[in-house]
Amino acid sequence: MPVTQKNVQRGAADRPTYSLVLPIFNEEAVLPILSKRITELLDNLDGPCEAIFVDDGSSDTSVIYLRELVRQDKRFKLIELSRNFGHQIAITAGMDAAAGDAVIVMDADLQDPPEVVFDLIAKWKEGFEIVYAKRIRREGETWFKKASANLFCRLLDRMTSVDIPRDVGDFRLVGRKALTTFQRMPERDRFVRGMFGWMGFQQTEVPFERPARAAGETKYPFWKMIRLAVHGIVSFSEKPLRAALWVGLGISLLAAFFGIYALFAWLLKADVVEGWTSTMVVVSFLFGINIFMTGIIGLYVGGIHAEVKRRPLYVVDRLNGFEREDVATGERRSGEADRRLA
Ligand code: UDP
Ligand code: MG
Repeated sequence: MPVTQKNVQRGAADRPTYSLVLPIFNEEAVLPILSKRITELLDNLDGPCEAIFVDDGSSDTSVIYLRELVRQDKRFKLIELSRNFGHQIAITAGMDAAAGDAVIVMDADLQDPPEVVFDLIAKWKEGFEIVYAKRIRREGETWFKKASANLFCRLLDRMTSVDIPRDVGDFRLVGRKALTTFQRMPERDRFVRGMFGWMGFQQTEVPFERPARAAGETKYPFWKMIRLAVHGIVSFSEKPLRAALWVGLGISLLAAFFGIYALFAWLLKADVVEGWTSTMVVVSFLFGINIFMTGIIGLYVGGIHAEVKRRPLYVVDRLNGFEREDVATGERRSGEADRRLA
């Protein structure tokens, strides 16, 4: 048998069926229990598997812990990004490196319970390409967080034409086809949830109760959530832009009517000076609207600016535990993925 053939066969045998992807940002408090639970999970999966940790520029001891973990168990892999690129990009880096037929993304704080993975896999085996884990209850999250998350979901639903499932986070399983499609989406502004909603395929949901964080604190402070919400809306909806047009038009119509009224008032010699208050009201109102609309347009222009620079999405500092050399470099996005699809 020619050597190449043998190599191909060995390669196929080594290839995992399941890849777990876990983004890590300053999670030292939760890592000991996480690694235990993930090891259990890997032991119980019904096929070869790997767990890819993506260190998103942690400044605590997470990386040291993870490197040790990778040394002990060859199913564990670690991608160290060169700095903090944010949750969504960290997920992307992990999925780029995943070799499995089914890739499961989950949070590192055990808010996405490992047991649920079996349900996700069961659905995948039924033939679904994308399986979301849908939260039916959330524990240990503040009233404010739940309310704002709910508002965000509703808003997004209203604003976008893409079906973005409700009560769904980034805990999901995606098959190879969906993953390859994902890698052909080169956008910088990544709202991963929306991207999977956009691509179609057979999608379904598995319900689960979301427990409280196992340890440590949330890495999503209020301003980060706002940023994610704005990203989500701007990258999946043109409605704010269209609204800017209509609101602008409406306001200028009103202003025109008011101008005509003012003209008549002057012509008919009514008390013109009294109009100072209303003038100020109108001017400041218009000014406010103007700035607001410019801001909305700025968001989109900013998005375009980020896209045209064509920078890599992320920068890998160091790979641990990978045998494949061509793995996980942000530069190879889209072009390489296209070739692989062909
Ligand atoms: N995370 C990340 N980069 C960031 C922020 C968060 O990789 O800049 C990871 C974090 O380590 C965790 C996941 O994203 O595994 C979700 O974060 P978190 O649990 O803090 O969010 P929450 O559940 O509070 O929305
Ligand atoms: Mg969490």
